[in-house]
Amino acid sequence: MEYTDLYNELGVSPAVLGYSNAVLEELAPRFAELDEVAEYNQLKVIRAMQKNKVSAACFAGTTGYGHDDIGRDTLEQVYADVFHTEAAVVRPQITCGTHALATALSANLLPGDELLSPVGKPYDTLEEVIGIRESLCSLQEYGVTYRQVNLLEDGSFDYDGIREAIHDKTKLITIQRSKGYQMRPTFSVARIGELIAFCKNLKPDVLVMVDNCYGEFTERLEPSDVGADMTVGSLIKNPGGGLAPIGGYIAGTQHCIDRCLYRLSAPGLGQDIGASLTVNTALYQGFFLSPTVVASALKGAIFAARAYEKAGFHVVPDGTESRHDIIQSIELGSEGAMRAFCEGIQAAAPVDSFVTPVPTDTPGYGDPVIMAAGDFIQGSSIELSADGPMREPYAIYFQGGLTFPHAKLGIMLSLQKMVEKGYLTL
Ligand SMILES: *Cc1c(COP(=O)(O)O)cnc(C)c1O
Repeated sequence: MEYTDLYNELGVSPAVLGYSNAVLEELAPRFAELDEVAEYNQLKVIRAMQKNKVSAACFAGTTGYGHDDIGRDTLEQVYADVFHTEAAVVRPQITCGTHALATALSANLLPGDELLSPVGKPYDTLEEVIGIRESLCSLQEYGVTYRQVNLLEDGSFDYDGIREAIHDKTKLITIQRSKGYQMRPTFSVARIGELIAFCKNLKPDVLVMVDNCYGEFTERLEPSDVGADMTVGSLIKNPGGGLAPIGGYIAGTQHCIDRCLYRLSAPGLGQDIGASLTVNTALYQGFFLSPTVVASALKGAIFAARAYEKAGFHVVPDGTESRHDIIQSIELGSEGAMRAFCEGIQAAAPVDSFVTPVPTDTPGYGDPVIMAAGDFIQGSSIELSADGPMREPYAIYFQGGLTFPHAKLGIMLSLQKMVEKGYLTL
């Protein structure tokens, strides 16, 4: 069967295929740069695995208390080496990214302390963690206050506002690298470094946590390379490489990580407890694959940006900007267009391609959310997926793709559905 016939069977018309291939031709030089970043990060991971003598014994896993879990302990050292930190916690007991962030925050903030976000509103699920939206067990309930300095109109840091907001109670500064469900730009590691230097210059003992979700391996450096005390993320996003079935990580200073371990399990237990069960092989192999998987996802994101930008939509980042996370947002302008886009992504999936995504209420989110994904790992957003809250400006957030051909197919089918439903003309 010809290439075009195969695409036709999958539902891609010759017009959409032609349009897509023309867009891709322009992108070849950018894709070559992404391959270089992937190569660099691949070497970083291999070097850390070799240095820590990863062996078959590391894949065995433990049960019960998990004492002497060489696989867990070695993996945490591998992460610490890749992130250039003193320590790391990388465990299946961390249920998701929000849990990792909540652990890092609640472990390092005490009653009377203040938390500052100098980059505007944090990710939706953190609103309840902090107590911006009231919740049982929020930091606010424990007497931790919160202050926020919004970004300036042009997306830059409000340094005057930040200077005024940092005072003697300010204990921890949280910086979200990725845009989350907002149309603001994602921050490069270099920009995060400038912000950290500014804050630490004003208050040298302030702790800085970076929410690194979706940012890992998109650049040569990580936030931990530019002064973050804790760098935090989810294993069902970038660093799990699509293979990790669960988990989160926190990489940082020994002092911060010790506190995180006590908060995660119980005071006095810490590092030595927490069985790795059967997940070790997936966590190691996923981390090993992550740099190239992230490159595939980035290629998909850039392709989507260019394809929709050329068709007249507002996209963030645009098709030429440098990339600091794997998220692509596209302002689709209506609920109907969001549904059509998601139907296309869903139709391209290897799993659950036959279902139709619809907006639903989701725990932790304020508005109904639509999600398209046909994942091997439930909810994994390093796999090709699209989601977004049903609110103005009806922006879809597109991410992932374990392989570039799959990401390409998903974007083409989204274009196809948009064309068929009259939201787009090529
Ligand atoms: C995904 C994400 C989180 C955490 O979400 P989980 O679904 O709990 O893993 C936090 N911050 C940002 C910016 C994210 O993208």
